[in-house]
Amino acid sequence: VIPVIAIDGPSASGKGTVAQRVAHVLGYHYLDSGAIYRIAALAALQRGINWQDETALVHMVHDLDIRFSQGEIYLNGAIITEAIRTEEISRGASEVAVHPALRRALLSLQQGFRQLPGLVADGRDMATVVFPDAQTKIFLTASAEIRAERRYKQLMEKGIHANLAEILQDLQARDARDSQRSAAPLLQSANARLLETSQLSIDQAVQAILEYSRS
Ligand code: C5P
Repeated sequence: VIPVIAIDGPSASGKGTVAQRVAHVLGYHYLDSGAIYRIAALAALQRGINWQDETALVHMVHDLDIRFSQGEIYLNGAIITEAIRTEEISRGASEVAVHPALRRALLSLQQGFRQLPGLVADGRDMATVVFPDAQTKIFLTASAEIRAERRYKQLMEKGIHANLAEILQDLQARDARDSQRSAAPLLQSANARLLETSQLSIDQAVQAILEYSRS
């Protein structure tokens, strides 16, 4: 079987950066499942499909040609790497993600990333739903305050003006939506290892995951 390292956790926990580094060290493929939901939201917006319209969203999935290549994300041939990172699409992603039928429609697309020599899958339901047989399962988290600070620093580094208190509020609102929704609430898989990164550097978190994956 093709190995999978499933890394789940709340937004801004650092799991994207950590998961990509783990994939790089091991030479594994990397699945950013959050990007898949963001792409669904963007594609719907482009086609005039309402984020509440579950049936139309499910139909739309069949004509999504999604590719990740050399740091860029392609949707039907067009680069949409930056376009899916806006606040509007962040909201859209969490709105479309509540539909169980859409989540089911996106299952095989995500599972298709499981290719040799292995996959690091980053998301909310990687260990519980998409890759329940993953060899390594990690639940990566950090306190809301630390996650807000990390996002704040990221934005400042990009020269984007931000307000720490607002970021914290947005994060807590998104956490609440993601954990209270009935479809795929963010839950720690029973057999996942908890990795609390509030006091860890990125390198330390990467090392911890590499160690788990070898044990
Ligand atoms: O991780 P990211 O912020 O890119 O995810 C965007 C949104 O997609 C999340 O707020 C969440 O609602 C949804 N999502 C999900 N299941 C995943 C990954 C993301 O429901 N596996």
